[in-house]
Amino acid sequence: MIIKPRIRGIICTTAHPAGCAAHVGQQIDHVKSAGPIDAGVGNALILGCSGGYGLASRIVAAYGCGAKTLGVSFERPPADKRTATAGWYNNIAFEEASNTAGLTAQTLDGDAFSDQMKADVIRTLKADTGKIDLLVYSLASPVRADPKTGVVHRSAIKPLKPLSIKTINVDRGEVSQVDLEPASAEEVAATVAVMGGEDWQMWIDELKKADLLAPGFRTIAYTYLGSELTWPIYWGGTLGKAKEDLDRAAREIGDQLSDLAGSARVVSLKAVVSQASSAIPVVPLYISLLFSVMKKAGLHEDIISHIYRLFATQLAQGAQLRLDDADRIRMDDVELSDAIQSEVKRRWPLVNTENIAELGDLAGYHEDFLKIFGFGLKGVDYEAEQDPTLGRAIAD
Ligand code: NAD
Repeated sequence: MIIKPRIRGIICTTAHPAGCAAHVGQQIDHVKSAGPIDAGVGNALILGCSGGYGLASRIVAAYGCGAKTLGVSFERPPADKRTATAGWYNNIAFEEASNTAGLTAQTLDGDAFSDQMKADVIRTLKADTGKIDLLVYSLASPVRADPKTGVVHRSAIKPLKPLSIKTINVDRGEVSQVDLEPASAEEVAATVAVMGGEDWQMWIDELKKADLLAPGFRTIAYTYLGSELTWPIYWGGTLGKAKEDLDRAAREIGDQLSDLAGSARVVSLKAVVSQASSAIPVVPLYISLLFSVMKKAGLHEDIISHIYRLFATQLAQGAQLRLDDADRIRMDDVELSDAIQSEVKRRWPLVNTENIAELGDLAGYHEDFLKIFGFGLKGVDYEAEQDPTLGRAIAD
């Protein structure tokens, strides 16, 4: 079949196998040319390995640090006349490239929040990989079934107070004012249950009980803090409450790892285009302005260069950690610098549908969005027939 992007609101319902492989390949090439990192990571477990920051973390762990990687993700295989999700193709591309390069890579696809997946990972580590030096927690999900109670929690991306704020319809390039209702107490609690730190703690509990954490083991989980422009919807909203809970979990996990001389840290990353971030109102408009300002200043970082910098400057042996007063590693230093934020804030009240192309980088946003699904990659023939199953037997 010939595969074209089919965009429905904030998602693209198709993915291009050759394009996804090219996207993974570009990120691998970036890391190879940036050079090795001595981070003491022999074995790494990446939760949320198939896209965005998790995929980049897996690529840097493998190709920068030489680590064996076990990845977990929740992706949909192809079905009759329907492509797989991009992450399904990314995982295969990563494994194939890694096998060729002699880097051990295994992937388990299923619900990382479940007891079953934790048991499967433990079994796989015991059989093949051994103790892990690093666990990267990079899940982004709208829903989590609590494995103990069976209750299905659904996150709500909402402010805590009534909010009238600028946003953009990325598809149509229309900037408008949106009125958002505040979350109820139940919605806040559900968002914390999905995106907070409880599941991260459950992973560490289980892996420690199974004696699969190596001496000096480290674990990191990703957060976003942002600036005054995004606070009303992010840090000051339901997502911020969930991310505060991640900070709590980091402190508790850190205590739990003291006998291994291990550490648990939340890492605050910069805003990028991902499946997760495109679902948050306001954020695509902010990203579009941010990209324009950072590119003009020659300071733009894409996902892979940002995560390479994290590993090279903050996870490498002997690194001087850039911590804030909550002990988080701060990688958003450039995004949040006065020079960048003052210009983004100057543009914010001015931006409208007519001048978004001039004040923002909507083209760059679109380009990154399509790349997530394997479209717009150089060297890929988008008129060529694709086998969406990649020759694999697919269950009905
Ligand atoms: P993403 O949507 O690109 O990737 C999410 C990953 O989670 C995918 O691999 C997906 O398969 C996996 N996943 C989702 N539900 C799962 C489940 N139940 N079981 C197993 N795997 C599951 O997301 P992203 O933007 O890379 O976000 C990753 C983390 O980085 C999040 O914690 C997010 O808050 C944080 N972060 C993102 C940004 C940003 O701008 N995108 C900025 C800072 C921090």
